[in-house]
Amino acid sequence: MELPVRDGWFRETCSLWPGQAMSLQVEEVLHHHKSAFQEILVFKSKTYGNVLVLDGLIQCTERDEFSYQEMIANLPLCSHPNPKKVLIIGGGDGGVLREVVKHPSVESVVQCEIDEEVINVSKQYLPGMAVGYSSPKLTLHVGDGFQFMKQNQDAFDVIITDSSDPVGPAESLFKESYYQLMKTALREGGILCCQGEKMFHV
Ligand code: SAM
Repeated sequence: MELPVRDGWFRETCSLWPGQAMSLQVEEVLHHHKSAFQEILVFKSKTYGNVLVLDGLIQCTERDEFSYQEMIANLPLCSHPNPKKVLIIGGGDGGVLREVVKHPSVESVVQCEIDEEVINVSKQYLPGMAVGYSSPKLTLHVGDGFQFMKQNQDAFDVIITDSSDPVGPAESLFKESYYQLMKTALREGGILCCQGEKMFHV
């Protein structure tokens, strides 16, 4: 497997955003391995801290992850009058979980992440995000979020889908049928919040 770093730079390109690229200067490659589901890369960048990349796409950086995690967690939690039971799909880095367990009314959190290697790598190299995994409120399932959703009905006050982009294992999490399953899994008055990739296509 070829390391996606050239002349000391990682460059993110994807057919989902044609004609543009995001580059970060690499100080050190910390982990590069193909798991059962995706290519996992973690590197120490020059200015953004440690960076998690899945299948060539940046998932989070230590420098700016807070802006994403706080929004995707706190908007639905603060929009619900009394969120007690929360489900997170994906979110392997642990950042969304870290935010959800801070919320005072949340009693229990179920997280379903497909790739155990992302969880382990995050505990090792992204400890500021993975800190959420030590919460006693958490029940962790390693498995496919789409399949997991089918097993739950009228169960959660808030569901947060913190998935990777709609290529690879997360493709099913962008389908209409997944949204129908989430609706069934919510309790009355429940709220969904999902990583939507981007609103506009060029
Ligand atoms: N913040 C990131 C972003 O904006 O792209 C997403 C972060 S999180 C690392 C995405 C997680 O979704 C990954 O750990 C990946 O393994 C997980 N994932 C992808 N497909 C999944 C599926 N079908 N079921 C459960 N988790 C999935």
